[in-house]
Amino acid sequence: MLLNLKIYKIISFLLLIDIIAIVWFLTIGDKIGLLISAILFLTFLTMQVFLVKCSNCGTRPGLWILAIWTLFLDFELYFADTVLLKACPKCEFDLHKT
Ligand SMILES: [Zn+2]
Repeated sequence: MLLNLKIYKIISFLLLIDIIAIVWFLTIGDKIGLLISAILFLTFLTMQVFLVKCSNCGTRPGLWILAIWTLFLDFELYFADTVLLKACPKCEFDLHKT
């Protein structure tokens, strides 16, 4: 679980870098580059959502955080939350334990 949490946070940074890549490909009008970075973005996001699971209540914290911040359309806070993720958002179980 601890390793998964580390991978989870690394993916957050990969997502940020990927967003920069998407913006860059948009700017230069490279459609293939844009397509590849968009696919990568979705892949990273899916991995992130399914990577961490609370061993206390079975919730997937990644899915919760994604759902909450998509609702508020605030991706800055989404990244802040993923990087700072320590406890389950539902039962507040410490994800570093297990
Ligand atoms: Zn939980």
